[in-house]
Amino acid sequence: MNVAGELRLKPGKERSLLRRHPWVYDTAVASVRGRPQPGDLVAVRSNAGEWLAWAAYAPASTLRARCWSFVESESVDAAWLGERVAESVRRRSPLAATTSAVRLVFGEADRLPGFVADRYADQLVVQLQSVGAEAQREALLDALNQATSCKAVFDRSDSATRKREGLEPVSGTLRGPDPPQLVEVHEHGLRFQVDVRRGHKTGFYIDQRDNRQLAHDLALRLAVDGGARRPRALNCFCYTGAFSLAAHRGGGGETWSIDSSAEALNLARAQWELNGFPAASANWQEADVFEALRALRSGGETFDLIVLDPPKFAASHHHVERAARAYKDINLNALRLLRPGGYLLTFSCSGAIDVDLFQKIVAGAVIDSGVDCQLLGRLSAGEDHPMSMAHPEGEYLKGLVLRHM
Ligand code: SAH
Repeated sequence: MNVAGELRLKPGKERSLLRRHPWVYDTAVASVRGRPQPGDLVAVRSNAGEWLAWAAYAPASTLRARCWSFVESESVDAAWLGERVAESVRRRSPLAATTSAVRLVFGEADRLPGFVADRYADQLVVQLQSVGAEAQREALLDALNQATSCKAVFDRSDSATRKREGLEPVSGTLRGPDPPQLVEVHEHGLRFQVDVRRGHKTGFYIDQRDNRQLAHDLALRLAVDGGARRPRALNCFCYTGAFSLAAHRGGGGETWSIDSSAEALNLARAQWELNGFPAASANWQEADVFEALRALRSGGETFDLIVLDPPKFAASHHHVERAARAYKDINLNALRLLRPGGYLLTFSCSGAIDVDLFQKIVAGAVIDSGVDCQLLGRLSAGEDHPMSMAHPEGEYLKGLVLRHM
């Protein structure tokens, strides 16, 4: 282990690290000793000199260091990183029974700050979001190759978060052959095609797996309860239609899907066909959801199952108020389309809006809509997107299931 320097914290700033929170903010640092370079390993010490953590130094970032380990006797080297990756991959092994699209490593939550790795069948896709992860790239990739036996690694470190670390956004093949144009995966019996080069995130919303299955289960229940009448589903912000496919597989009914991206809808249509579903059961609309919901109301359309899975409306705390109005608008207008006995699955992936605030916003929409609703439960990302209890900032996806009484 090569320790390049030391960060001394200001008095009192050791408290969060003693609780194993992995981030050291620039404002907490009193002094830097040695000449650590971006990504180098440093010791973090309290103002009194007590050892606190081994961390990666990020001189350009307000997150001045991210902690790898809180155990002084641990040696943070390739073998140590390899063990962290191997144990993350092992924790995901139960998921292999239901899907071939899995998040293998989820950064801070897996004690590998800044490093994300997804598996789509035999294709690995990584995101190196911190200088610390970037500096350990080869060790992390070696470990992933070894833990999965997958050779192909594609880099999707193209999010703007890299800039805050002084890194340029990049994407491209890192190891093995280039990915095919579309990688086929399966999830709960459905087939999906993932564009790892250009798709959202690393190509697919892996995090919504359990909630798609819930849409399937509710549609199935509605189909059984409804006898001959097949449940009619509406999927707003459908991207490549994953919720629509799940709902149709469950209930066998008509699905209406709306997204502003023609490209996403094209892939959605192709996937619908790939799964052998009748084209006549799907209605794909390239439209703005805010306007489309109003148009559906004017047209007198109603649905048994509605999914609202919008993009992140609040990029930061500064945007919470505007985002709250947007969430309220779509929820209000969706509720007005919901048939009695029907279900609404509504989500927010804005980290700046916590689950309590989201529930308040949706409650406001329910009251204004005049629709009597029960809250059946709260939803979150799947278990391969865990949250470290020491790092609540890692939570982002939240959802509610409502039933029109
Ligand atoms: N539910 C999807 C993921 C949704 S991502 C899944 O499980 O795969 C959000 C989607 O919203 C993107 O596809 C984006 O194109 C779309 N979008 C963003 N703003 C929109 C708007 N105002 N109207 C319609 N679609 C929008």
